[in-house]
Amino acid sequence: MAQIIDGKAIAAKVKAQVKEEAAALVRERGLTPGLAVVLVGDNSASKVYVRNKERACKEVGFVSRKHVLPEDTSQEELLALIDALNGDSAVHGILVQLPLPGHLDEKAVIARIRPEKDVDAFHVENAGRILLGDYGFLPCTPAGILTLLKESGIAIQGKECVVVGRSNIVGKPMALMMLGENATVTVCHSRTENLAEVTRRADILIVAIGRAKFVTADMVKEGAVVIDVGMDRDKEGKLCGDVDFDTVEQKASYITPVPGGVGPMTIATLMRNTLTAAQRAAR
Ligand code: NAP
Repeated sequence: MAQIIDGKAIAAKVKAQVKEEAAALVRERGLTPGLAVVLVGDNSASKVYVRNKERACKEVGFVSRKHVLPEDTSQEELLALIDALNGDSAVHGILVQLPLPGHLDEKAVIARIRPEKDVDAFHVENAGRILLGDYGFLPCTPAGILTLLKESGIAIQGKECVVVGRSNIVGKPMALMMLGENATVTVCHSRTENLAEVTRRADILIVAIGRAKFVTADMVKEGAVVIDVGMDRDKEGKLCGDVDFDTVEQKASYITPVPGGVGPMTIATLMRNTLTAAQRAAR
């Protein structure tokens, strides 16, 4: 039976540390970390994510500023807001909640954020730095996963790590970061042949595909560490992950639950990145 990695508890620990450092920044430099969150349109999932981020800011003592723009906002209007936030010294982190409505050019919007305020680490400059192992900010979900592994005392060096999913925000940076930790890394995707054969090799299996309960026990090696990034709905409409938790739990040595695993760490890491941006601005 696997040990459950408690993402909520580890996230709480990270946030407590961030809160302490933020208070020191206020005390010593008179600077309160500020995060601006930009939401365009009426996507209900995005609204929940934004609300959670605002709540986390409050918890750690940051100023959070929400900019809600209508669905029909033009590219120029959105870029003008980004420019204003780039120039605002009270704003240390800028986060544009994705996805944007279809008529907007996401890449151009992200490219407009100053890299030192890009706390999501989606800007090409920050993404490129990951490739070079010279980190500016690390993207919140994979960086949060690395924290979960380390805080759980899981050895990474020399281990076989299989990442399923190659998105720019999770799979690809995750694979590079595990490589940076000296794991032997394989990346799988929708065209991978004999997926189960590959996943069964993994000492550490990280799944980020967006398919409810897709990874079953027969795809997992006995004693593997299983990290489930998915946020899906099962047939009953209940929140679940990409891993069939009940069966895989019997075989894994460690496993993250959904909810309460990777999700809380993503937000805690966003707080850490925003603090880092504020600390750099104070130098
Ligand atoms: P994405 O951009 O949709 O990418 C999905 C990836 O999975 C793609 O690389 C795709 O392969 C691969 N894939 C899809 N079906 C597959 C299959 N049958 N076998 C193997 N690979 C398959 O997704 P994402 O943004 O990375 O998100 C993945 C999941 O994580 C979603 O459920 C999302 O909600 C969740 N998520 C959670 C958090 C969190 O904080 N907890 C953060 C981000 C995302 P191709 O490249 O070949 O198409």
